[in-house]
Amino acid sequence: MARLVMKFGGTSVADIDRIRNVARKVKREVDQGHEVAVVVSAMAGETNRLVDYCRTISPLHDAREYDAVVASGEQVTVGLLAIALQEIGVPARSWLGWQVPIHTNDVHGSARIERIETKEIEKRFRDGMVAVVAGFQGVGPGGRVTTLGRGGSDTSAVALAAALKADRCDIYTDVDGVYTADPRIVTGARKLDRITYEEMLELASLGAKVLQTRSVEMAMNHGVRVQVLSSFADTPGTLVVDEDEIVEQQVVSGVTYARDEAKITLESVADRPGVAAMVFGSLADANINVDMIVQNVSHDDKATDITFTIGKADMERALKVLEGRQEAIGYRRLGADGNVAKVSVVGVGMRSHAGVARTMFRALAEKNINIQVISTSEIKVSVLIAADYTELAVRALHSAFNLDVQ
Ligand code: ADP
Ligand code: ASP
Ligand code: MG
Repeated sequence: MARLVMKFGGTSVADIDRIRNVARKVKREVDQGHEVAVVVSAMAGETNRLVDYCRTISPLHDAREYDAVVASGEQVTVGLLAIALQEIGVPARSWLGWQVPIHTNDVHGSARIERIETKEIEKRFRDGMVAVVAGFQGVGPGGRVTTLGRGGSDTSAVALAAALKADRCDIYTDVDGVYTADPRIVTGARKLDRITYEEMLELASLGAKVLQTRSVEMAMNHGVRVQVLSSFADTPGTLVVDEDEIVEQQVVSGVTYARDEAKITLESVADRPGVAAMVFGSLADANINVDMIVQNVSHDDKATDITFTIGKADMERALKVLEGRQEAIGYRRLGADGNVAKVSVVGVGMRSHAGVARTMFRALAEKNINIQVISTSEIKVSVLIAADYTELAVRALHSAFNLDVQ
């Protein structure tokens, strides 16, 4: 007998037929004698609809009320799935975040899970009951409903698996595993049987939304065995594993992209100590996260340009902050471009192989794609390019690193 957490995303519970399909999948595990907790998302499109309601009434809405609204999508699906399970003879009950409870901090809209009390759920496991738990939500220190950020049901599932010491956390979705690139963009993308936690973490944080970044972080820290697989097919999925469990290692395991960043350039900034600290200090004071940074070497030791990227949502605010400090920083011109994309190649094999950047830049040059900013880490290389070339770049890199299905 094993203890399993099964998570189903929005498309997997998009209508009544699909909820029945989920119930049958859960029943199959229960019939094998396993203890099962199921985590579900809201029906596909529902969370977007709820977010829009809040924004329409007030662009600067109260984040606590936003959470009260957007968490409601999952309340519907937990109840419906519990009914569907009961209907086919599987004892089940639904749990909202506050009922479990799933304790979080009070950062409404992107709260972090701090502790999950599993006593009640485990008590019902012993009576043969399935727990159907609402993803994406928890309860803050003041007793208010919180949500974990978009895509947060993955994190609910992994956190619950860690708290329940589950044998595995199966993430059921609308693709049958983690691919070498988003299969909706690259038709030749290959499904990976295994991927390391580290690579998955990079892919997720660089844009592959198949798993929420925090869920991978949590799986890595707690040693949760995660499998990504399809709700609609019965094929094995992708296992997220430690590096020593990978048999055949590619240099590059995946290519990914993100269109949610904007580029800011400060032209002709004084080339002296303290200027960068002032620029990035001002942004940090305004709680604006900076991602990629380049500063050119100055030709005359007097002035240089600084370019960096931030989240697109922060662009207007960042411009205001920097305009307000023009005199103190001493730049000549401030420019911004929201029409950019970050394309990245990821692979733990890069640690021991040279030439990844060369292959990457050459492949982009062959397609005449100009690189605006570059950043690297031990296991990834990212470039910023014009957004119009995103798909072309992803496909070209996928081929250049021999990732296409043979
Ligand atoms: P769910 O609603 O089940 O949580 P998501 O839409 O959040 O599903 O995530 C699944 C989607 O992630 C897929 O439909 C796919 O388009 C996208 N995706 C992006 N990159 C990858 C990748 N490398 N492998 C698999 N899917 C990916
Ligand atoms: N329903 C939430 C969202 O759309 C959480 C999730 O699907 O993981 O972001
Ligand atoms: Mg998701």
